[in-house]
Amino acid sequence: MTFVSDFEPKILWRYFDEILTIPRGSKNEDKIRRYIISIAEKHNLEYVQDPIGNVVVRKPASAGHENAAGIILQAHLDMVNEKNANVEFDFENDALQPLLDGDYLKASGTTLGADNGIGVAAMLAVMSDNSLEHGPLEFLFTIDEETGLTGAQELGSDLLQGRQLLNLDTEEENSLCVGCAGGGDTRVTVPVSRMPQPAGTTAIQFKLTGLKGGHSGCDIHLQKGNALKLLARALFACSEAMQFNIADIAGGDKHNAIPREAFATVVIETANKDNLIARMKHEMAVMAGEYKTVEPDLTFEAADGIATAAVLDDKSSQMLLNFALAMPHGVIAMSYDIPDLVETSTNFAKLTLNEDVIFVLMSSRSSIASGMDAIRQRIHAVAGLVNGKLEESDAYPGWKPNMNSRLLKVMKALYTKETGIEPEVGAIHAGLECGIIGAKYDGMDMISFGPQIEFPHSPDERVKIDTVATFYGMLLKSLKELA
Ligand SMILES: [Zn+2]
Repeated sequence: MTFVSDFEPKILWRYFDEILTIPRGSKNEDKIRRYIISIAEKHNLEYVQDPIGNVVVRKPASAGHENAAGIILQAHLDMVNEKNANVEFDFENDALQPLLDGDYLKASGTTLGADNGIGVAAMLAVMSDNSLEHGPLEFLFTIDEETGLTGAQELGSDLLQGRQLLNLDTEEENSLCVGCAGGGDTRVTVPVSRMPQPAGTTAIQFKLTGLKGGHSGCDIHLQKGNALKLLARALFACSEAMQFNIADIAGGDKHNAIPREAFATVVIETANKDNLIARMKHEMAVMAGEYKTVEPDLTFEAADGIATAAVLDDKSSQMLLNFALAMPHGVIAMSYDIPDLVETSTNFAKLTLNEDVIFVLMSSRSSIASGMDAIRQRIHAVAGLVNGKLEESDAYPGWKPNMNSRLLKVMKALYTKETGIEPEVGAIHAGLECGIIGAKYDGMDMISFGPQIEFPHSPDERVKIDTVATFYGMLLKSLKELA
């Protein structure tokens, strides 16, 4: 036990303190699942484990509330394991080390797992406290939310009895979330042809680094630079004035991260080399000015490239630039119904070039199914112009806001009455399990809320301690009010 167990409400923080010692990276939920089951057994609560590994615990209504409509509490068991490069830490065995950071709790050099560990601890607290007033409760603990929403995807459509669900996986205090985006990836491969590096040419390597990147859903409206798009734009501009051939180009990494760095190697007649470098530097300087507010650390370098055996021929070189420039990236549409909500976006997430194909990874999101179809059609259309082949993942569904929800009405009024603050009601442009669960259970009324958690999925992850008490207090009062 650590100092975390002394925070209020103690019943919740003691569970969180214990969870800190249980390894639970995505796809490694065995130990935490066994722990959940042990708490259910200790309190004589019925539970079911489904084939994929989700757990549902059931708790009967408190006396006098047997006829109330059932409520489902939901959180995911897994966490993102990330650590700073200079930290020795074994996520399979070591306990996370909590660290006080002013008003916040964080972990020493690693993710904290407050996402979604606080939600899990809150559910365990409700499960084990027999002094509470509530209707019939179900506790749904899902697996592998972070790397594929697998638990929600594989959830049986007959496992849950209730039709009201409180998801405890959003991360902003004083807000109630009523919608999320669906998403899906598209992989595009485009054939190219190469030729030997022409005589009398020199290779140059261009490097664009220092961009901020960020989450392709939550941060897309910030309009940060996409390193791949900017590098392609500069090369395209130069290609209109002079002839060169691309030998290599690469950038981006994860599907949900905006590319921070991009590289290209080109070959050009040796006599024209300095001219191209000067033009590229000019183009990049113009873009650096355009983006200076959001990308103050943009860095562009040109160096003599490594000699390459084969380069794209003239046609493939130009096609690659046309393709990279025409592929969409960023916000595609804003919501007409919810102010400031991005409805549809796409992330030009990754580009690589090998011997005979260009590979591009696109990651698209929308809170409405037709928006998702529309952006995917646009990707098809551009790929079609260059004989690209497409491989699409199944899109997971979004969660369309229901402004007439009973849960929303009750919880908004309660929040305002209890805290004196009218909660912000909104939707997020990222995935939540609610979209998938809602698609399996007709008429499921859902709300998502949680304490203030910042920088999730990074070693800077931290939770604002006093917001956990507010969050838990609201959860208990809501259960009572809805009973
Ligand atoms: Zn989460």
